[in-house]
Amino acid sequence: MKKALHDESGVFFTFREGDLIAWRPHDIDMLLSAANDASDYEVSKKNGFTILKKNGVVVTRVSLEDEFCSIVHDWMCDFVDEGVTDELIDELNDVLADIRYIHVLMPSESGIPYWQNNVADMNKSPNVLEAAGYAFAHQLTIGGLEGLKRCQLPDCENFFIGRPNAKWCSKSCGSKYRVRKKRKRGLE
Ligand SMILES: [Zn+2]
Repeated sequence: MKKALHDESGVFFTFREGDLIAWRPHDIDMLLSAANDASDYEVSKKNGFTILKKNGVVVTRVSLEDEFCSIVHDWMCDFVDEGVTDELIDELNDVLADIRYIHVLMPSESGIPYWQNNVADMNKSPNVLEAAGYAFAHQLTIGGLEGLKRCQLPDCENFFIGRPNAKWCSKSCGSKYRVRKKRKRGLE
């Protein structure tokens, strides 16, 4: 069990399979890598069946992990393009509407246990949409998505948190971009 701390701002909790899991502001890094890892599935139809392919290989279904990644990816796209719109808030509220909140008894160093309140109960059969929605919505409320951008190198397009004028997710993307621009100019 991860240790839960009292009154730590920006921390929220989910409860799953007997474990209280603390999420902290820096978990935005986890969401960023989830969005950046989102794989593209190729969907086609054959003889009335839907065929799903990942990297050219037929798969029976989208894995839960990939589902999580692609949901977060789509919300991040919306956020980068439009910011926090009423539609985004409505959509997240719809996703989160059925989450049950519980309070959990926690041990403490003094020996006197305490209640941890407002813990999202994620004990039901894994609901990826709810888990992704909760993590994403929480980051919105604590400003974790402020400065969210997409790398402007066309074959990268990774999400990252950057300064207002930042264009690339990394130095290497910046230099690749400049090299290509130079080459283009050389061809003119
Ligand atoms: Zn990049």
